[in-house]
Amino acid sequence: MQEIKIERTKNPKQKPTDQSKLGFGNYYTDHMFVMNYDEGEGWHNPRIVPYAPFELDPAAMCLHYGQEVFEGMKAYRTEQGGILLFRPDRNMARLNVSNERLCIPQIDEEFAIEAIKQLVLVDEDWIPTAEGTSLYIRPFIFAVDAHVGVHPAKHLIFSVILSPVGAYYPEGLNPVKIYVENNYVRAVKGGMGFTKTGGNYAASLKAQDEADKAGYTQVLWLDGVERKYIEEVGTMNVFFVIDDEVITPALQGSILSGVTRMSCIDILKSWGMKVSERRLSIQEVADAAKEGRLKEAFGSGTAAVISPIGELKWGDVVMPINNGEIGPISQKLYDNLTGIQWGKLDDPFGWTVKIK
Ligand SMILES: *Cc1c(COP(=O)(O)O)cnc(C)c1O
Repeated sequence: MQEIKIERTKNPKQKPTDQSKLGFGNYYTDHMFVMNYDEGEGWHNPRIVPYAPFELDPAAMCLHYGQEVFEGMKAYRTEQGGILLFRPDRNMARLNVSNERLCIPQIDEEFAIEAIKQLVLVDEDWIPTAEGTSLYIRPFIFAVDAHVGVHPAKHLIFSVILSPVGAYYPEGLNPVKIYVENNYVRAVKGGMGFTKTGGNYAASLKAQDEADKAGYTQVLWLDGVERKYIEEVGTMNVFFVIDDEVITPALQGSILSGVTRMSCIDILKSWGMKVSERRLSIQEVADAAKEGRLKEAFGSGTAAVISPIGELKWGDVVMPINNGEIGPISQKLYDNLTGIQWGKLDDPFGWTVKIK
């Protein structure tokens, strides 16, 4: 394994003092990980350096053609003062799936996890300790060739930055109102929907903005071809409980394979519940809602873990879910998953990685 050089900052920043006001993505730690790719040399020069802006040529290809990928994961501080990561192998495997689609050279997954561990340990004093807070980890790779022409890059940077983030639900899990989007689409099969790449999020901004203005928190995305089948909610995967079946859309190339999603599926199955990964049409959900068989709906993702849905609006159809309150399965999943992540509950699946 390549050795990671560490240059510590001489000017540590003031850490945010009020952990109840951290929010999400507002603060960054003292250090960052950086590594270069140059054709012929491969990935080289791994280093942890003081957090600072990159110097980029104005012709850098990432700025023009969006050849970039990223990941999102967290480090959790346990009550005993330990530090846990949650399934980092899954994030790094997914990063390479994104790399493959974007013509970005593969990274060494084990090495990337080692780099993340070392970076988190260098900045461990930044991991907040209040209930529900964590250190968000953002690995990302972008093309830096100075070349205004479309082709796969020969020069790239792999970096990791860290951000202390607040509890997503300081006042308990609050179900949100969701707008079913039938004008814009996020991704199509054959596109990049199964990868974490900036373009997917740029494509989602307009719909999100319009939903926001109409008083909705997120949009529910339908498939890009028939506009019938449910895909994701905002930047989360989505689950519906209809009768005694828990349903989440199958991964068919336009949906991101969430680590939270796969963990929810495993936990639900371990409880003996019926879980289906299949096509689910918005009509089926609307019918179930009308017949009183739609029990719960929730989004799943690293940031919020579980985000209960209290209402869906599809054209003129308004579907209140569980009286706008969080349902028992959503609550139990949230408690279980966060319990494992913060080291408060047993980890029967062996998902957490102790780095301290
Ligand atoms: C990151 C992301 C998710 C959730 O993935 P997790 O690994 O659970 O955080 C779902 N959908 C989209 C579009 C995402 O970007």
